Amino acid sequence: MKIAFIGLGNMGAPMAANLVAAGHDVTGFDVAGVTVDGVAQAGSGPEAASGAEVVITMLPNGAILRRVADELIPAMAPGATLVDCSTVDVDSARAVADQAQAAGLGFVDAPVSGGVGGATAGTLTFMCGGSADAFATAQPLFDIMGQKAVHCGEAGAGQAAKICNNMILGVTMIATCEAFALADKLGLDRQKMFDVVSTSSGYSWTMNAYCPAPGVGPKSPADNDYKPGFAAELMLKDLGLSQQAAEAVDADTPMGAAALALYRRFVEDEDGKGRDFSAMLPRFETRSRG
Ligand code: NAD
Repeated sequence: MKIAFIGLGNMGAPMAANLVAAGHDVTGFDVAGVTVDGVAQAGSGPEAASGAEVVITMLPNGAILRRVADELIPAMAPGATLVDCSTVDVDSARAVADQAQAAGLGFVDAPVSGGVGGATAGTLTFMCGGSADAFATAQPLFDIMGQKAVHCGEAGAGQAAKICNNMILGVTMIATCEAFALADKLGLDRQKMFDVVSTSSGYSWTMNAYCPAPGVGPKSPADNDYKPGFAAELMLKDLGLSQQAAEAVDADTPMGAAALALYRRFVEDEDGKGRDFSAMLPRFETRSRG
């Protein structure tokens, strides 16, 4: 398939490389001039997009996506499909979907879970919104870049699934970390805490698969001095998107709001920037109630 890939950053570069490795003809563009082995370099986004059957974007946020889509959509061939894999606000996903549809193009919002490790290994999970036809066009590419693609509904449904998932993740990570810090102060051994909780009703992905305590549970960023992994500032971004969406539809999300406030403080006022989001545990360890 002839594919354009716009945004070759930490995630986009390995995703594009996997498409090339599977035999696809990929032309890429990134404003930072990034190049990827096997990906033909275009001088602009529209140059990469013209003639492509599928155009994939992997960009930092919704404002940039809207700007890039304004340029790409007029350059795309009629009947082509735009697949946005960035994590953006639901409104931006729906606005770009409308614009693509008006131009006779397919659109899928397909944010991912799995991080840079999943992008490199080709084991991402794609959460997708858009028409059944557009999803069917993109599905073989999701199968190369990932291990699972769920068609969640109409345009915006992928972003909705992503921010709901990550709101649970942020809240659960905080709960797991504060419980470990409490257990420490109660004199409970961390390994015993893990042995009990990981097989009891407090179990979660953050405890069982990504344990924030070093030396406990499977290997995780905690065992690598809290180097990301999934950086605290990316969690802050996703919690901000979930609160923005909650405000837009008047949903009551007090735990999501508390998690956003805590990650904001951690990233903006404390030492959280550049650390994994599980570094909430050493943060709680050094604090008291006051
Ligand atoms: P990144 O900053 O490494 O990559 C984004 C790339 O987009 C950069 O290389 C940048 O130069 C490029 N770019 C910016 N404006 C552009 C433009 N106008 N035209 C072309 N290229 C442009 O970010 P990333 O970590 O690759 O994340 C990309 C997206 O994936 C984000 O929306 C992020 O929230 C989401 N995401 C990231 C992770 C992760 O672990 N890194 C996990 C899941 C989802």
